[in-house]
Amino acid sequence: MPNVAFINGAFVPLADAKVSIEDRGFQFGDGIYEVIRTYHGRPFSLDAHLARLDRSARALNLTQPYSRADWTQHVLEGIKRAAYPEAKVYLQITRGVAPRDHAYSDDATPTVVMTVREFHPLDRSIQATGVDAMTTEDIRWGRCDIKSVNLLANVLARQQVKQAQVFEAILVNAGLVTEGAVSNVMVVERGTVVTAPEGPRILSGVTRAVVLDLALSEGLPVQEHFVSQTDLYAADEVFITGTTVEVLAVVRIDGKTIGDGRPGPITQRLAASFTSRVG
Ligand code: PLP
Repeated sequence: MPNVAFINGAFVPLADAKVSIEDRGFQFGDGIYEVIRTYHGRPFSLDAHLARLDRSARALNLTQPYSRADWTQHVLEGIKRAAYPEAKVYLQITRGVAPRDHAYSDDATPTVVMTVREFHPLDRSIQATGVDAMTTEDIRWGRCDIKSVNLLANVLARQQVKQAQVFEAILVNAGLVTEGAVSNVMVVERGTVVTAPEGPRILSGVTRAVVLDLALSEGLPVQEHFVSQTDLYAADEVFITGTTVEVLAVVRIDGKTIGDGRPGPITQRLAASFTSRVG
Protein backbone atom coordinates (compact mmCIF):
# COMPACT_ATOMS: atom_id res chain seq x y z
CA MET A 1 0.00 0.00 0.00
CA PRO A 2 1.33 3.47 -0.78
CA ASN A 3 1.86 6.08 1.89
CA VAL A 4 -1.03 8.48 1.51
CA ALA A 5 -0.60 12.24 1.27
CA PHE A 6 -3.24 14.93 1.34
CA ILE A 7 -2.44 18.44 0.29
CA ASN A 8 -4.83 21.40 0.34
CA GLY A 9 -7.94 19.27 0.05
CA ALA A 10 -6.79 16.55 -2.38
CA PHE A 11 -5.37 13.07 -1.84
CA VAL A 12 -2.26 12.47 -3.97
CA PRO A 13 0.59 9.93 -4.04
CA LEU A 14 3.25 10.99 -1.51
CA ALA A 15 5.82 11.52 -4.28
CA ASP A 16 3.55 14.10 -5.95
CA ALA A 17 2.82 16.11 -2.79
CA LYS A 18 4.83 19.33 -3.14
CA VAL A 19 4.75 22.74 -1.48
CA SER A 20 6.30 26.01 -2.58
CA ILE A 21 9.73 27.14 -1.39
CA GLU A 22 7.96 30.34 -0.40
CA ASP A 23 5.78 28.51 2.08
CA ARG A 24 6.14 30.10 5.52
CA GLY A 25 6.43 26.65 7.05
CA PHE A 26 9.65 26.18 5.06
CA GLN A 27 10.87 29.77 5.50
CA PHE A 28 10.08 30.36 9.18
CA GLY A 29 8.72 27.17 10.71
CA ASP A 30 5.47 29.17 10.82
CA GLY A 31 3.10 26.26 11.27
CA ILE A 32 1.60 23.67 13.57
CA TYR A 33 1.12 19.91 13.52
CA GLU A 34 -0.38 16.85 15.17
CA VAL A 35 0.55 13.18 15.23
CA ILE A 36 -2.21 10.65 15.75
CA ARG A 37 -1.98 6.89 15.74
CA THR A 38 -4.59 4.26 15.13
CA TYR A 39 -5.50 1.24 17.21
CA HIS A 40 -7.39 -1.44 15.30
CA GLY A 41 -7.66 0.99 12.40
CA ARG A 42 -9.35 3.76 14.41
CA PRO A 43 -7.61 7.03 15.32
CA PHE A 44 -6.99 7.26 19.07
CA SER A 45 -8.26 10.40 20.85
CA LEU A 46 -8.82 12.17 17.54
CA ASP A 47 -11.01 14.82 19.18
CA ALA A 48 -8.33 15.67 21.71
CA HIS A 49 -5.72 15.98 18.94
CA LEU A 50 -8.02 18.18 16.86
CA ALA A 51 -8.80 20.31 19.92
CA ARG A 52 -5.07 20.83 20.48
CA LEU A 53 -4.64 21.68 16.78
CA ASP A 54 -7.32 24.37 17.27
CA ARG A 55 -5.54 25.71 20.36
CA SER A 56 -2.21 25.85 18.51
CA ALA A 57 -3.88 27.61 15.55
CA ARG A 58 -5.53 30.19 17.82
CA ALA A 59 -2.29 30.84 19.69
CA LEU A 60 -0.55 31.69 16.41
CA ASN A 61 -3.50 33.50 14.84
CA LEU A 62 -3.39 30.90 12.09
CA THR A 63 -6.53 30.33 10.06
CA GLN A 64 -7.91 26.85 10.72
CA PRO A 65 -8.96 25.78 7.22
CA TYR A 66 -11.26 22.94 8.30
CA SER A 67 -13.92 22.40 10.91
CA ARG A 68 -13.51 19.56 13.40
CA ALA A 69 -16.02 17.53 11.35
CA ASP A 70 -14.11 18.14 8.09
CA TRP A 71 -10.81 17.16 9.70
CA THR A 72 -12.38 14.01 11.09
CA GLN A 73 -13.65 13.08 7.65
CA HIS A 74 -10.25 13.70 5.99
CA VAL A 75 -8.38 11.72 8.64
CA LEU A 76 -10.77 8.77 8.40
CA GLU A 77 -10.58 8.87 4.60
CA GLY A 78 -6.75 8.94 4.73
CA ILE A 79 -6.67 5.97 7.08
CA LYS A 80 -9.07 4.09 4.82
CA ARG A 81 -7.05 4.82 1.69
CA ALA A 82 -3.75 3.83 3.28
CA ALA A 83 -5.30 0.61 4.60
CA TYR A 84 -2.40 -0.22 6.91
CA PRO A 85 -3.07 -2.51 9.86
CA GLU A 86 -1.97 0.42 12.06
CA ALA A 87 -1.18 3.91 10.86
CA LYS A 88 0.43 7.14 11.99
CA VAL A 89 -1.35 10.24 10.76
CA TYR A 90 0.60 13.49 10.53
CA LEU A 91 -1.30 16.78 10.07
CA GLN A 92 0.39 20.09 9.39
CA ILE A 93 -0.98 23.56 8.78
CA THR A 94 1.34 26.41 7.83
CA ARG A 95 0.58 30.06 7.24
CA GLY A 96 0.95 29.42 3.54
CA VAL A 97 2.85 30.94 0.65
CA ALA A 98 3.98 34.57 0.74
CA PRO A 99 7.03 36.64 -0.27
CA ARG A 100 9.52 36.29 2.57
CA ASP A 101 8.78 38.77 5.33
CA HIS A 102 8.71 37.93 9.03
CA ALA A 103 5.41 39.76 9.57
CA TYR A 104 2.43 38.06 8.00
CA SER A 105 -0.71 39.13 6.26
CA ASP A 106 -3.99 38.34 8.00
CA ASP A 107 -5.56 36.96 4.83
CA ALA A 108 -2.84 34.37 4.13
CA THR A 109 -4.18 31.09 2.77
CA PRO A 110 -2.85 28.24 4.92
CA THR A 111 -1.13 25.21 3.44
CA VAL A 112 -2.58 21.98 4.76
CA VAL A 113 -0.78 18.68 4.58
CA MET A 114 -1.56 15.24 5.90
CA THR A 115 0.37 12.00 5.54
CA VAL A 116 -0.66 8.52 6.58
CA ARG A 117 2.12 6.00 7.04
CA GLU A 118 2.38 2.55 8.44
CA PHE A 119 2.88 2.53 12.22
CA HIS A 120 5.12 -0.05 13.87
CA PRO A 121 4.45 -0.18 17.61
CA LEU A 122 7.39 -0.44 20.00
CA ASP A 123 8.68 -3.89 20.64
CA ARG A 124 6.94 -5.35 23.72
CA SER A 125 10.35 -6.37 25.09
CA ILE A 126 11.28 -2.68 25.40
CA GLN A 127 8.20 -2.20 27.53
CA ALA A 128 9.19 -5.11 29.70
CA THR A 129 12.73 -3.88 30.36
CA GLY A 130 12.25 -0.11 30.28
CA VAL A 131 14.62 2.31 28.60
CA ASP A 132 17.60 4.56 29.26
CA ALA A 133 17.25 8.32 29.06
CA MET A 134 19.59 11.27 29.38
CA THR A 135 18.97 14.78 30.62
CA THR A 136 19.76 17.84 28.59
CA GLU A 137 19.14 21.55 28.95
CA ASP A 138 15.71 22.70 27.81
CA ILE A 139 16.68 25.45 25.37
CA ARG A 140 13.20 25.83 23.82
CA TRP A 141 11.18 29.02 23.60
CA GLY A 142 8.52 30.17 26.07
CA ARG A 143 5.46 28.65 24.32
CA CYS A 144 6.08 24.93 24.37
CA ASP A 145 2.30 24.43 24.71
CA ILE A 146 1.94 25.29 21.01
CA LYS A 147 2.60 22.23 18.86
CA SER A 148 4.68 24.19 16.39
CA VAL A 149 6.74 22.74 13.54
CA ASN A 150 9.55 24.91 14.88
CA LEU A 151 11.34 21.98 16.47
CA LEU A 152 15.02 22.92 16.36
CA ALA A 153 15.66 22.47 20.08
CA ASN A 154 13.90 19.09 19.96
CA VAL A 155 15.92 18.14 16.86
CA LEU A 156 19.18 18.90 18.70
CA ALA A 157 18.03 16.99 21.79
CA ARG A 158 17.04 13.96 19.72
CA GLN A 159 20.42 14.04 17.97
CA GLN A 160 22.07 13.88 21.41
CA VAL A 161 19.83 10.90 22.17
CA LYS A 162 21.01 9.19 19.00
CA GLN A 163 24.66 9.86 19.80
CA ALA A 164 24.31 8.72 23.41
CA GLN A 165 22.39 5.62 22.25
CA VAL A 166 19.61 6.14 24.75
CA PHE A 167 15.86 6.30 24.16
CA GLU A 168 14.81 9.82 25.12
CA ALA A 169 16.12 13.18 26.32
CA ILE A 170 14.56 14.58 29.46
CA LEU A 171 14.60 18.36 29.26
CA VAL A 172 15.67 20.39 32.29
CA ASN A 173 14.96 24.09 32.61
CA ALA A 174 16.73 25.90 35.46
CA GLY A 175 17.08 22.64 37.39
CA LEU A 176 13.46 21.58 36.85
CA VAL A 177 12.24 18.74 34.64
CA THR A 178 9.82 19.96 32.00
CA GLU A 179 9.20 17.02 29.65
CA GLY A 180 10.88 14.76 27.13
CA ALA A 181 12.06 15.88 23.68
CA VAL A 182 9.12 13.95 22.19
CA SER A 183 7.19 12.83 25.28
CA ASN A 184 5.89 13.90 28.67
CA VAL A 185 7.71 12.77 31.80
CA MET A 186 6.08 11.41 34.96
CA VAL A 187 7.73 10.33 38.19
CA VAL A 188 6.38 8.27 41.06
CA GLU A 189 7.32 9.50 44.53
CA ARG A 190 6.02 7.50 47.50
CA GLY A 191 3.02 6.29 45.50
CA THR A 192 2.13 9.68 44.01
CA VAL A 193 2.31 10.26 40.27
CA VAL A 194 3.92 13.65 39.67
CA THR A 195 4.26 15.49 36.38
CA ALA A 196 4.95 19.04 35.20
CA PRO A 197 1.85 21.25 35.11
CA GLU A 198 0.17 22.31 31.89
CA GLY A 199 1.30 25.75 30.79
CA PRO A 200 3.84 27.35 28.48
CA ARG A 201 6.72 25.09 29.59
CA ILE A 202 5.31 21.81 28.26
CA LEU A 203 3.24 20.40 25.46
CA SER A 204 0.00 19.21 26.98
CA GLY A 205 0.20 15.62 25.78
CA VAL A 206 -2.94 13.79 24.77
CA THR A 207 -1.45 10.62 26.29
CA ARG A 208 -0.49 12.57 29.44
CA ALA A 209 -4.15 13.50 29.97
CA VAL A 210 -5.35 9.93 29.36
CA VAL A 211 -2.75 8.53 31.79
CA LEU A 212 -3.53 11.09 34.52
CA ASP A 213 -7.22 10.18 34.16
CA LEU A 214 -6.39 6.49 34.44
CA ALA A 215 -4.27 7.15 37.54
CA LEU A 216 -7.08 9.10 39.20
CA SER A 217 -9.70 6.53 38.30
CA GLU A 218 -7.51 3.89 39.93
CA GLY A 219 -7.27 5.95 43.10
CA LEU A 220 -3.61 6.88 42.63
CA PRO A 221 -2.72 10.33 43.97
CA VAL A 222 -1.64 12.72 41.20
CA GLN A 223 0.21 16.02 41.56
CA GLU A 224 1.05 18.47 38.81
CA HIS A 225 4.19 20.34 39.74
CA PHE A 226 7.77 20.54 38.52
CA VAL A 227 10.25 18.02 39.86
CA SER A 228 13.92 18.91 40.23
CA GLN A 229 16.62 17.00 38.41
CA THR A 230 17.86 15.73 41.79
CA ASP A 231 14.37 14.42 42.66
CA LEU A 232 14.16 12.84 39.21
CA TYR A 233 17.23 10.69 39.93
CA ALA A 234 15.85 9.85 43.39
CA ALA A 235 12.31 8.98 42.18
CA ASP A 236 10.92 5.52 42.88
CA GLU A 237 9.81 5.26 39.26
CA VAL A 238 10.05 7.37 36.11
CA PHE A 239 8.10 6.89 32.92
CA ILE A 240 7.37 8.76 29.73
CA THR A 241 4.07 9.08 27.87
CA GLY A 242 3.31 9.87 24.25
CA THR A 243 1.31 8.85 21.22
CA THR A 244 3.98 6.51 19.90
CA VAL A 245 5.56 5.37 23.20
CA GLU A 246 2.31 5.02 25.21
CA VAL A 247 3.48 4.46 28.83
CA LEU A 248 7.14 3.51 28.92
CA ALA A 249 9.34 2.97 31.99
CA VAL A 250 12.65 4.83 32.21
CA VAL A 251 15.02 2.73 34.29
CA ARG A 252 18.28 4.65 33.94
CA ILE A 253 18.90 8.36 33.51
CA ASP A 254 22.40 9.66 32.75
CA GLY A 255 23.64 6.20 33.71
CA LYS A 256 22.04 6.38 37.19
CA THR A 257 19.64 3.60 38.10
CA ILE A 258 16.06 4.62 38.88
CA GLY A 259 14.45 2.59 41.67
CA ASP A 260 15.63 -0.99 41.30
CA GLY A 261 16.39 -0.61 37.60
CA ARG A 262 13.18 -2.29 36.44
CA PRO A 263 9.78 -0.91 35.46
CA GLY A 264 8.09 -0.13 38.78
CA PRO A 265 4.68 -1.38 39.93
CA ILE A 266 2.79 1.86 39.28
CA THR A 267 4.31 2.26 35.83
CA GLN A 268 3.38 -1.33 35.03
CA ARG A 269 -0.14 -0.80 36.33
CA LEU A 270 -0.65 2.36 34.27
CA ALA A 271 0.88 0.76 31.18
CA ALA A 272 -1.57 -2.15 31.56
CA SER A 273 -4.54 0.21 32.08
CA PHE A 274 -3.48 2.18 29.03
CA THR A 275 -3.33 -1.01 26.99
CA SER A 276 -6.84 -1.95 28.05
CA ARG A 277 -8.08 1.59 27.37
CA VAL A 278 -6.86 1.42 23.77
CA GLY A 279 -8.37 -2.04 23.37
N1 PLP B 1 5.91 16.56 24.54
C1 PLP B 1 6.51 16.76 23.36
C2 PLP B 1 7.58 17.80 23.24
C3 PLP B 1 6.10 16.03 22.22
O1 PLP B 1 6.67 16.25 21.02
C4 PLP B 1 5.11 15.03 22.37
C5 PLP B 1 4.65 14.22 21.24
O2 PLP B 1 5.18 14.27 20.17
C6 PLP B 1 4.54 14.83 23.63
C7 PLP B 1 4.96 15.62 24.70
C8 PLP B 1 3.49 13.78 23.85
O3 PLP B 1 2.26 14.23 23.34
P1 PLP B 1 1.13 13.23 22.88
O4 PLP B 1 0.82 12.37 24.06
O5 PLP B 1 -0.01 14.11 22.53
O6 PLP B 1 1.66 12.46 21.75
